[in-house]
Amino acid sequence: MKTKIWLSSPHMGGNELKYVNEAFASNWIAPLGPNVDGFENDLKRYLENRVAVAALSSGTAALHLALVLLGVGIEDEVICQSMTFAASANPIVYQGATPIFVDSEPDTWNMSPVFLEKAIEDRLVKGKKPKAIIVVHLYGMPAKMDEIMAVANKYSIPVIEDAAEALGSTYKGIPVGTIGQIGIFSFNGNKIITTSGGGAVVANDEALVKKARFLSTQALDPAPHYQHSHIGYNYRMSNISAGIGRGQMEVLNDRVNKRRENFAFYQNSFSSNNAIKMGTAPDGDFFSNHWLSTVLIESNEVSREDIRLALVAENIDCRPLWKPMHMQPVFENCPFYGDGTCERLFELGLCLPSGSNLKQEELDLVVNTVNSVFEAAKNKKKETIAV
Ligand SMILES: *Cc1c(COP(=O)(O)O)cnc(C)c1O
Repeated sequence: MKTKIWLSSPHMGGNELKYVNEAFASNWIAPLGPNVDGFENDLKRYLENRVAVAALSSGTAALHLALVLLGVGIEDEVICQSMTFAASANPIVYQGATPIFVDSEPDTWNMSPVFLEKAIEDRLVKGKKPKAIIVVHLYGMPAKMDEIMAVANKYSIPVIEDAAEALGSTYKGIPVGTIGQIGIFSFNGNKIITTSGGGAVVANDEALVKKARFLSTQALDPAPHYQHSHIGYNYRMSNISAGIGRGQMEVLNDRVNKRRENFAFYQNSFSSNNAIKMGTAPDGDFFSNHWLSTVLIESNEVSREDIRLALVAENIDCRPLWKPMHMQPVFENCPFYGDGTCERLFELGLCLPSGSNLKQEELDLVVNTVNSVFEAAKNKKKETIAV
């Protein structure tokens, strides 16, 4: 069996173990401690001190707390981008609320501001104002935030930015995750940096983040005994994980650069093939960390599945783009507003290996394998014509 080429695997920088060893040496083996504080400060600085930061056990926990902080509860409705990972939408259901799914627009593949407004208008007609909007910066590509914030502000609905995949991306020079009322990040093993598992919730409202820390540590009221006036969660990041995170923050800029180089390499390699359309930023306002390099296969001779199966045969990890949430059995009864753009993206799209630890010969093998599928299709066509 050929050695596997991964989609996006963890990539340590070197100092992670130093911080983890410090945690052991000082016996801070707990969901609090100096690494948690240090990691929060590193993130805060990276986000240009625009927000306060609470480090949590996962991105999913961060989204759940964001909804709790905004008061989302039973029978509420929350608008969510349909094309995303299920973890963007699941916490809506944890709160007993209903997801209202909105389509993507074709430029960034993220939430369409047009269908967002249509959805809000229709929910208002049906008698309910959505409690929050969850917009996702998919694969690191910033969503059209000016347009989305304009709609959200017009109806006074708070925006949660799911920036799980987008640490290091900016929109008009501003770090994504810091533009809406609340932002969330993920440090799962496959993300641009990892704490093995972890997340963060951020907001420019310091009090909101303070409340997130309180809720994430079992909502202990100040008292010598165990006193509770809120339902709490066990969602805080461990001091061990945060140690890994501190080491990773030291190399975050290198990771962003390498992922963007991967993207540029694929883009250059496929530039003469009109059937391969890269997931490119619409213009200079959108700076993507290119967490994953994505392509659409727009050809009558070669399908996305032909490419995917050829890569799998070479033991190369690749994935279709996220299957939209409104197409998932678990969400089949949820409303959807759109024109099918994300359904088409799902049918034609593929994520290519994109890790910051990929070697040039691995990237070459990916490109050669993709090219060989197009070559084979061309030769087959010639044969058919000859016959
Ligand atoms: C990874 C991811 C999450 C969830 O983050 P975890 O840390 O794995 O819980 C949420 N949303 C998106 C878009 C993601 O890619």
